[in-house]
Amino acid sequence: MTPEAAPAPDSRPNPFRLERGGPVAPRSGLLATAHGVVRTPAFMPVGTQATVKGLSPDEIRAAGTQILLANTYHLMLRPGADLVRERGGLHAFMGWDGAILTDSGGYQVVSLRERVAIREEGVAFHSHLDGHPEFLSPERAMEIQADLGPDIAVTLDHAVSLPASPEDVRDAAERTLRWTERSLARAAALSTPTGLPQLRFAIVQGGGDPALRAEMAERTSRLPCDGFALGGLSLGEAKEETWSAARAANGSLPADRPRYLMGMGTPEDLLEGIAAGVDLFDCVLPTRNARNGMAFTSDGPLNIRNAEHARSGAPLDPRCSCEACARFTRAYLRHLHQAGEILAHRMLTLHNVTFYQTLMREAREAIDRGAFDAFGGEFRRRYRDTRAADSP
Ligand SMILES: [Zn+2]
Repeated sequence: MTPEAAPAPDSRPNPFRLERGGPVAPRSGLLATAHGVVRTPAFMPVGTQATVKGLSPDEIRAAGTQILLANTYHLMLRPGADLVRERGGLHAFMGWDGAILTDSGGYQVVSLRERVAIREEGVAFHSHLDGHPEFLSPERAMEIQADLGPDIAVTLDHAVSLPASPEDVRDAAERTLRWTERSLARAAALSTPTGLPQLRFAIVQGGGDPALRAEMAERTSRLPCDGFALGGLSLGEAKEETWSAARAANGSLPADRPRYLMGMGTPEDLLEGIAAGVDLFDCVLPTRNARNGMAFTSDGPLNIRNAEHARSGAPLDPRCSCEACARFTRAYLRHLHQAGEILAHRMLTLHNVTFYQTLMREAREAIDRGAFDAFGGEFRRRYRDTRAADSP
């Protein structure tokens, strides 16, 4: 690996250009990565195993995707970061030439719960594949991500499930800050398989406490990173808590740097997040729910398994132009789903990712013409929430 000089906080060029909006307001911007400029706000489909399940790279692109997320935890266990490095990094390995962000693996490790021991040095855990003991330190998380070679790497954090005591939340937030410093120090000496530069996002923790979130955001923003990730939200707290914590963090982060809200949410969450000043999102909902027969539409979510669709000649969403909506009826997609056909999973996934990306593009356009509030209001009115009946 090629060593390079550790940069000072103010010497890293800003990859982000804020075009419109402020620290805690709907914003649009341009995030420059080694694989193209990402227009924000942007949504990253989740490619856990270096694939967005069921979709080819051309389909991921056709859905409107600029950047996707891959999981450090899963890829370090299988096929292994050294193998991906040998194959030229994630972009070459998976045939995707758009931008990629990898998470640090911290969240997946901690979500294993009882198989995990968190120490100051790092996290000891057992592989969910074969029980093999593994260890993830802040340094190791960055080494793995350098080998994987995404455009954006994320520092290791310590997330806690809520409710938790204020002491535990503070302890995890402080440890996250120490781990961030160690992650960034190690990353400065690493290189990607292609030699292309890698941006580094630092995770801000702090539970549902706005004051602690603001403090951690302010202290994290003094570190030499390119952008910020809000971690540990939507882990058991009430929705109002999520948004007040996110707003508090964003209010204390530099306005001209990108912010990424990790691992949430619904279409309505995306609109709330955008209003709170978030630039980047990821969530498994559009892809995971597709495989359970759930489609997001502009009239709210629907479940293709429901009998009401059995003879329907309508597309999933008349406002959508994806291949699933342009070519197939609900009746046919329901038949495929009931028969366990792969095409049902593929088409619902393609549709859901297209739906999310269309929502983000339209939100971006609304921000640029100063009409985000009206856009959000119109979307919510149309999006009758039938989630209770249609949850998979
Ligand atoms: Zn569609």
